[in-house]
Amino acid sequence: MSDRNILVINCGSSSIKFALVHEYEPTFRLQGLAERLGSPEAVLQWQVGPEKQIKDMPGADHQAALSFILPLAQKAAGGHLDGIGHRVVHGGEHFTSAGIVNDEVLEGIRASAQLAPLHNPANLIGIEAAIELFPGLPQVAVFDTAFHQSMPDYAYHYAVPEFLYKEHGVRRYGFHGTSHRYVSKRAAEMTGLPVEDSCWLSAHLGNGSSTCAIVNGESRDTSMGMTPLEGLVMGTRSGDVDPNLHSYLASTLGWSLDQIDNMLNRDSGLKGLSGLSNDMRTIYEAKKAGHQGATLAFNVFCYRLAKSLAGMACALPRLDGLIFTGGIGENSAAVRAQTVEFLKLFNIKLDAEANARCVCGVAGEIQAAGSPRVMVVPTNEERQIALDTLALLDD
Ligand code: ADP
Repeated sequence: MSDRNILVINCGSSSIKFALVHEYEPTFRLQGLAERLGSPEAVLQWQVGPEKQIKDMPGADHQAALSFILPLAQKAAGGHLDGIGHRVVHGGEHFTSAGIVNDEVLEGIRASAQLAPLHNPANLIGIEAAIELFPGLPQVAVFDTAFHQSMPDYAYHYAVPEFLYKEHGVRRYGFHGTSHRYVSKRAAEMTGLPVEDSCWLSAHLGNGSSTCAIVNGESRDTSMGMTPLEGLVMGTRSGDVDPNLHSYLASTLGWSLDQIDNMLNRDSGLKGLSGLSNDMRTIYEAKKAGHQGATLAFNVFCYRLAKSLAGMACALPRLDGLIFTGGIGENSAAVRAQTVEFLKLFNIKLDAEANARCVCGVAGEIQAAGSPRVMVVPTNEERQIALDTLALLDD
């Protein structure tokens, strides 16, 4: 049996997250994060087994950090690295699945950059640096949007003049596709249902959050749209607001588009509602202590999530299970309990003990006897990216 190792790279504008994924081992041999790249405070942290290390790299850019990360990965892989999988945020309509990086794929990522100006250029920097440093190694791009390219036209069109879609790509794309795909496949495995005959609602709840309706292994609808701002309440993002809010704030407060954009992306969500924090742990502790803003933020978060899941149910012929994942979905029994409480018509009842047990990476079913199925399934985007990379190496 072959024994392959894939380095998974996720480049942000000033950071690189990386993990070495072995095809048969559940834990990563190496994982780490380079942060504040391009600044005097650039720093690289990594972990091999339980051993954590840190290295200051003042002024290091993506290429400098990657040229340090590669030997680390090669060593952790026992000198045998088989490929690199890159997370790319936006694949526009160019990509319905992962692709081996070549000129055409690079051009597709460039062409989609306008739709994700903060993310795709950073992803490209990572890919180009990796190609230069490791020219002999196969590189694969895995897109957050690709899974949702199976949405029907009535799910992805906004009701705006059609030329905006045809000429300017204005439509819903959806994100977190790698996570929704991974957890729905895992849920099918865990329950013994065939992926190609199974129907799921999935809630990925992290700093960014989205819901997805998955039928027979395909995304049929999702809550994020043209950008990751649409849909649920998130850590600092508002999710859905009345689109007229922009003109209202411009005319009443004289705010510029940039100011409104900043407010909706960085100062809203849990942070904006609570006035306290974007972190669900802080919100929940403050709610328990009677903090009004935190209580409101918690309730709005769960109600809007329930409402989104109820809406997503339109895309399903039946429901085999509701899946919670992401930092909040995997760890907050309270968010799960309050969300199903808001979903009265689904007749879901949780088993309180099972719900409390499924935290910190523990997967399982948490419904009470006789209730529709509810599952906690830890996501693993790095593994899914590695699996996609391996599948293309096999072709
Ligand atoms: P990202 O989207 O950055 O990958 P994560 O999936 O790691 O984020 O999720 C981060 C969120 O998970 C934060 O809001 C954090 O508060 C929340 N979280 C982590 N652990 C817990 C916990 N025990 N209870 C509630 N929320 C938690």
